[in-house]
Amino acid sequence: DEYVGRTFDKILKAEKNIRSFITLESQDEVLHQVKASLKRGGRLAGVLIAIKDNISTKGIRTTCASKMLENYIPPYDATVVSRLKEQGAVILGKTNMDEFAMGSTTETSYFGPTRNPWDLERTPGGSSGGSGSALAAGLVEIALGSDTGGSIRTPASFTSTFGLKPSYGTVSRYGLVAYANSLEQIGPMARNSKDLSILFSVIAGTDPRDSTTIDYSPPNIVDPIPVKGIKVGILKDLMDASETGVSSVIRGYLDKMSSEGAVIEETTLGIMDYVLPTYYIIAMSEASSNLARYDGIRYGYNSGTEGNWKEVYSKTRGEGFGKEVKRRILLGSFILSAGYYEQFYIRALKARRLIKDSLEKLFSKYDILISPTTPILPPKIGEVIDDPVKMYAMDVGTVTANLAAVPALSIPAGFYNNLPVGVQLMGRYLSDTFLMGISMFME
Ligand code: GLN
Repeated sequence: DEYVGRTFDKILKAEKNIRSFITLESQDEVLHQVKASLKRGGRLAGVLIAIKDNISTKGIRTTCASKMLENYIPPYDATVVSRLKEQGAVILGKTNMDEFAMGSTTETSYFGPTRNPWDLERTPGGSSGGSGSALAAGLVEIALGSDTGGSIRTPASFTSTFGLKPSYGTVSRYGLVAYANSLEQIGPMARNSKDLSILFSVIAGTDPRDSTTIDYSPPNIVDPIPVKGIKVGILKDLMDASETGVSSVIRGYLDKMSSEGAVIEETTLGIMDYVLPTYYIIAMSEASSNLARYDGIRYGYNSGTEGNWKEVYSKTRGEGFGKEVKRRILLGSFILSAGYYEQFYIRALKARRLIKDSLEKLFSKYDILISPTTPILPPKIGEVIDDPVKMYAMDVGTVTANLAAVPALSIPAGFYNNLPVGVQLMGRYLSDTFLMGISMFME
């Protein structure tokens, strides 16, 4: 009673400024669920969790922060949500995000931006910014995000929390509203590496409902891994591309690792100029095809127009989608159209292969690769949103892991001018728990 009461007092106060949640469950409902869960038990018995609003929750509105799905209530749970419920977790609410997870600041949300608890003038990053803010404000201890090109790690970095983009295929995407399937994974976010690893072990594992999951079951417990003798490569191109405040904090973190006995060396991916164009060509192409389903007929927003199919379709989509989503559908459709397909899409797939190969080469030499999670400090609200190229450039450090399917973790490295800076640890395919073990040791 007291725990739930205290949490709700805190939420009502914090949410006036921060607005992490799009939908909050009622206090009565949460109290009822917590009591029932404590009776039943489980690894997360009675633990409250915040869930990004692109993950289906049975009976709870799931909007993707879009007008298109403003009133959509899914009739089923995502696999990750069923697994959480099985272990006793209780859903506190659904968190704000960029519309359909397209963005890096949570400002493209139809419901308005979320603010960073560390500095209310600034963004918490995105697209899982609501989950990051809810954690940083202490409203929950664990949260779910999704990461297509950095959407878990950027908010983790900007809110001084922990976030993992898991190896592709370890976590089921069943019930995740698709943006770019070949890149994205649902992943855990938390206030420390131990909670992060527990949450990962609950949600990860093979799922017959998602044929892209692999034969995998995560260990229940992750132990700290001493970094003595571990080979660390610093991605120099990403260090050089970062603001000096950011890179200086990362250097401090590396000094700490080196004093613990890690073997640190500068290296480079060599193909840094390709990663953003490759990512955005693939992401927009997949988005244009995935979002074709919002036609105003099957579900979601309908403009109510009478007329032929084309009129209903255009009007519904014209009114239901925001600017950034439309931009991506247009660009994606263009890229996939006859005549341009070879020029852009096929070449992006080839570049993706190259990026994967050069990463593999680096992992034959290094156990982990380290870089700033983002090249900049949390921007002020309004600072990047009107300049898409500036916004896309924030993802230069994060998209590589999605293109190459490998795990990447963002953890707090320190502060610069009272603003959080996150460090990214990237590892070999399926080294997720290794990365969390290192993070646990360094904490
Ligand atoms: N900022 C990137 C994009 O807009 C990544 C978003 C994400 O990971 N969902 O595509």
